Amino acid sequence: MKLATYQSESGPRAAGVRDDGFVDLNATDADLPRSMKGLLGLGTEGIARAAAATQQGEPISPDNVRLLAPVPQPQKVICIGLNYADHAKESGSPIPDEPVVFNKFPTAIRGQGDPIELPGVSDQVDYEAELVVIIGTGGRDISEENALSHVAGYTCGHDVSARDWQKGKPGGQWLLGKTFDSFAPIGPHLVTADEVGDPGNLNIRFRLNGETLQDSNTRQLIFSVPKLISYLSTVCTLTTGDVLFTGTPPGVGAARDPQIFLKPGDIAEVEIEKLGLLSNPVISRSV
Ligand code: MN
Repeated sequence: MKLATYQSESGPRAAGVRDDGFVDLNATDADLPRSMKGLLGLGTEGIARAAAATQQGEPISPDNVRLLAPVPQPQKVICIGLNYADHAKESGSPIPDEPVVFNKFPTAIRGQGDPIELPGVSDQVDYEAELVVIIGTGGRDISEENALSHVAGYTCGHDVSARDWQKGKPGGQWLLGKTFDSFAPIGPHLVTADEVGDPGNLNIRFRLNGETLQDSNTRQLIFSVPKLISYLSTVCTLTTGDVLFTGTPPGVGAARDPQIFLKPGDIAEVEIEKLGLLSNPVISRSV
């Protein structure tokens, strides 16, 4: 099924997604938590109950709903770099033999339709379409075989990247260039793992103002979703609602000739098979 978080009059609420609108889960079944994290913490039982409530409840018209990120405030936003061989090549980087890991702060998270804000201090803000994994049941030392049972679902993600802050800063740090506020749009919905099946066979595209600039499939991932979950959980406890960006395919703007960077007025779209379309306008940040 598809789950979303929307902005109700009294704060963010988890909702079930139907063709005719969004069903507030807690308003329909008072035993269901209000937040997406609370819901995902109930595991598959909670998802089943949410599916029943979605069928029974009164839908709110999409016209009257402001969507937020499916998980608006994840505890962790973990990102994988250089996870498609052709992207590593175009970036002038060797193909890694272990995952390249960095992070974003939760303040970077945005949802469907929220603007990507170009900071005045960068003139090289680039796009990256990515499959995003949302953790359901947390854990540590998760085996590769067991890893997918810890996944609540998937969504589209945009790893917005200020190249001039990602490269050439002291120590080779990536964090700052990746974590300007609004640099982590995810959405529009969380599609549950049972509905997606194999995360390693999904078409993934990025479009800028309607022009396709990235077009690949997650079968090209160097490190698979189970491998990444297992690897990361040897280091830190994964918790419910954690967000994992799995890396971007080739075609990013910095690697093109001439280069393409985001500018005010652009519409940035990430589309992934079975997960829908994440669309965000690009604006200048006004200070
Ligand atoms: Mn990336």
